[in-house]
Amino acid sequence: MITEIEIGRKLSNIFENFSEENIVNSGRVQGINIYKEKINILIAKKKSENNQEIEIIKKKITNSLADSENLKIDVIEAELKKSDIVHLLNMSKASENEKKVNDKWNMDSHKLFWHLDRVEAWQRGEKVAPLHIDMGISSGCNMACTFCYGVIQNRDGFGTNSKKIFHTPVESVKQTFKDAKEIGVKSIALIGEGENTLHPNFHEIISYGKEIDLDLSLATNGIRIDHKKLDIILESLKWIRFNISAGTKETFQKIHRVNQMDRVLGNARALAKRKKEINSSCVIGFQMVVTKENMNDIVPLSKLGRECGVDYFVVKPCSDTFDSRLDSPKGEYIEALEIFKEAEQYSTKDYSVNIKWKKVLNGGWKDYTACHGTQFILGLSGRGDVFPCGHWFNERRDEFLMGNIIEKSFKEIWQSKRYWEVQEKIRKEVNVNKHCESNCRQHYINRFLFHEGKNNTKEIKEDYKDHILKKPDHINFI
Ligand code: SF4
Repeated sequence: MITEIEIGRKLSNIFENFSEENIVNSGRVQGINIYKEKINILIAKKKSENNQEIEIIKKKITNSLADSENLKIDVIEAELKKSDIVHLLNMSKASENEKKVNDKWNMDSHKLFWHLDRVEAWQRGEKVAPLHIDMGISSGCNMACTFCYGVIQNRDGFGTNSKKIFHTPVESVKQTFKDAKEIGVKSIALIGEGENTLHPNFHEIISYGKEIDLDLSLATNGIRIDHKKLDIILESLKWIRFNISAGTKETFQKIHRVNQMDRVLGNARALAKRKKEINSSCVIGFQMVVTKENMNDIVPLSKLGRECGVDYFVVKPCSDTFDSRLDSPKGEYIEALEIFKEAEQYSTKDYSVNIKWKKVLNGGWKDYTACHGTQFILGLSGRGDVFPCGHWFNERRDEFLMGNIIEKSFKEIWQSKRYWEVQEKIRKEVNVNKHCESNCRQHYINRFLFHEGKNNTKEIKEDYKDHILKKPDHINFI
């Protein structure tokens, strides 16, 4: 099967019209997505170019990939910028041995292969329960990170507005955990909107998750970790992730806009130490969102993660809004090539540095036309609002709000006509490349559902036999 790298190589033999520059280096090629034999290439068309010029380029691409029957070329109006593809071509030079990474959690993929019964029910048109929920229990945060949607959308409770933080009542949270479990939700991550450790009943809430045997996890900015309650955290959660995107105090201040780096690292160290003492299976990690401001912090943070004793460090590209408000990097990843490679070198048998390569590769382009993923992963805001995904917390709310768990039970919301009408609207009316953020949470499962959705699950099991045998940890966190 042809790989993205091989396609990139073939494309770099094609030259721009009337120029000696190839279409990869020129930035013409913006993204390459491959799903089995289906190839999707995204190219840019400058405003000044006419359709005829683009048709010539498309023809050259089609000829160069003449062996590929399932080729689709999408065109986006944009300036030609150095694209991430160049970076990937370079990356292919790094041998497999050079990368010591062992991604035992499938971070650059999804885990629907281990829930094919639910996929089958969905194929039959049944009203399936989501497998996973990303849920906020508090609506604001005591940081104000530059890439945070709460901050850029100026939501109440973020940064200087921190007095306006809202906490979902503890009883509503517990009822939702219980309902979710009853209808077939397999896992909940306290993630998505605010800083959930600020909730006054935080420890009571996570203990309840454990009590009802719900797979629970947490993403946190790491400021508020109570050292007297480390055992509760470690015993209640399957995993905890510190969202830290800086390797120096200076960048920390710039990105997270607070002066709390020592405290966050101290908390991570304490948690990792206690984990070893009580032999807990809770997985502790660092996650970095790469922006234009913190590329030089990737390696220092990779070292810091190892020093703190956490289990992994994952690096992901910054998801941008549909109108590019975050100005997230594109070609700048190319300059970071050596940095990414160096960061991976800090992996050991107990510590894994994972780069989300697939998301870096695709140029933010989605090679599917409809979103089905919201039927499997749902988003709840810190105010108890139920949405198909976090993207709609502050965009077109009236169209996509399904209900609120303080007013109505989660089970009733899931059973309501409104829930299924909204799911239908997502599937039929949302243009995933126009209305949505790039590389959203559901991206990996969306690709799978779109490309494999019509296939018999027996065929899927056969096609992915080897992959399915390599069962990752935490399969319920799809
Ligand atoms: S594709 Fe759009 S609607 Fe679907 S999950 Fe992603 S952001 Fe939400």
